[in-house]
Amino acid sequence: DWEVEKDNIQKLVSRYTEINPKEAVKFSDFPLSKKTLKGLLEAQYRQPTEIQRQTVGFALQGKDVLGAAKTGSGKTLAFLIPVKFVINICRMFLSGCDESEKIHNTNIIICTPGRLLQHMDETSAFHASDLLMLVLDEADRILDMGFAETLNAIVENLPSTRQTLLFSATQTKSVKDLARLSLNDPEYVWVHEQA
Ligand code: ADP
Ligand code: MG
Repeated sequence: DWEVEKDNIQKLVSRYTEINPKEAVKFSDFPLSKKTLKGLLEAQYRQPTEIQRQTVGFALQGKDVLGAAKTGSGKTLAFLIPVKFVINICRMFLSGCDESEKIHNTNIIICTPGRLLQHMDETSAFHASDLLMLVLDEADRILDMGFAETLNAIVENLPSTRQTLLFSATQTKSVKDLARLSLNDPEYVWVHEQA
């Protein structure tokens, strides 16, 4: 029942300020819905990886995050958990709208930088003024491929009120430059490789 779910979401959100991101050990240490926790277990994700442990709490609290950890460390889930939360919030606000209003609301776009900028420039129906969250994944690789200016143009076109999560396998100078340009008072999480 949607009203019950709405109530549950509001209860979870009210617990976000209590999160101590540095002390979370298990996924259940984060205020995640029963559905999300069940889904994680079913996918055999028993414990958060180090990058997930250190970033999910900040992201749920609405903070900007720069997360750097080597390939294979689980960065995808580190941003998908907060993304899932944003979708819940969208659904909560959309629950009062009728179908014709909802149909114009694209919730998630996953794309390469060039494609996104092209839509910003050429697709008249595309507007990003309501964007809640921007995730920049594989930042070091995107920058290595020469997309720094494209990324800068995208970021300039997005509302400054958005939340931004930036993930990278390495911390290069260009990643730091992008962080300076795209993040607002961020939490820096750098998971070093175990010796
Ligand atoms: P990265 O983006 O940092 O390179 P991925 O997000 O692709 O890493 O994850 C690497 C692998 O680790 C994937 O196969 C993923 O399913 C697995 N994985 C992610 N998080 C967990 C977890 N908490 N427990 C167990 N396996 C995980
Ligand atoms: Mg990845």
